[in-house]
Amino acid sequence: KEFRNNVKPNWCPGCGDFSVQAAIQRAAANAGLEPDQLAVVSGIGCSGRISGYINAYGFHGIHGRSLPIAQGVKMANKDLTVIASGGDGDGFAIGMGHTIHAIRRNIDVTYIVMDNQIYGLTKGQTSPRSDVGFKTKSTPKGSIESSLSVMEMALTAGATFVAQSFSTDLKDLTAIIEAGIKHKGFSLINVFSPCVTYNKINTYDWFKENLTKLADIEGYDPSNRMQAMQTLMEKNGLVTGLIYQNANQPSYQELVHNYSEEPLSHADLKISEEKFNELLSEFM
Ligand code: SF4
Repeated sequence: KEFRNNVKPNWCPGCGDFSVQAAIQRAAANAGLEPDQLAVVSGIGCSGRISGYINAYGFHGIHGRSLPIAQGVKMANKDLTVIASGGDGDGFAIGMGHTIHAIRRNIDVTYIVMDNQIYGLTKGQTSPRSDVGFKTKSTPKGSIESSLSVMEMALTAGATFVAQSFSTDLKDLTAIIEAGIKHKGFSLINVFSPCVTYNKINTYDWFKENLTKLADIEGYDPSNRMQAMQTLMEKNGLVTGLIYQNANQPSYQELVHNYSEEPLSHADLKISEEKFNELLSEFM
């Protein structure tokens, strides 16, 4: 169960994404997976490199499109554990349409977002997660747009597993990812993963001062959707832990594949020329 490979990550020293890489590797091992049972699909951005840094099937996709690819992989082989990954710009700007629909579809994919509130790969522009007033090269007088409340949005869209973590909490992050992998349905895990090079506001110290662990809130019940929404609003989204889980809703995968035990990738897809022409004639 060795999920480490020999590729040296091309991230800046101190980047939060190192911890996410380590947490995925540990969570996959803790979940009892073998490398050939895991596929990691990523989008574009610094964090998008992660699919090459894990000893498993990897697919470095295109900007904002990790989820369509990940869902395709899962549809083709329901027996694979599929992790989609990327940054906040990747998933919550250009990829937002895919994110919303993967959430409501409840397909059995774990989506890990490395949220650093900035575009790092393109050298520091404001992202959908940047706060009002955030100054970058693209907003030199400060952003006038409000930050997207991603966790509230996920709850509203019908998410069955919503969690948040912080790069320095490797133990908690590993446990959350393992829980997401084991969840039968779509799991959205947003990780505060500081960009030490371009984001000088949302630093490790800033998060340590501002984050609240849900485990420290007395009586917090992650099966209570209303409480989850209320807590997110009260804490301005700055919480870590399992925010909400509904384990009773069947996944897309369970509903689609209830007619067959065999993954599509194992099926004999050969058809006769006669049958092919018959199918083709339906579209002529
Ligand atoms: Fe990480 Fe930022 Fe460096 Fe990209 S630019 S590798 S996000 S620290």
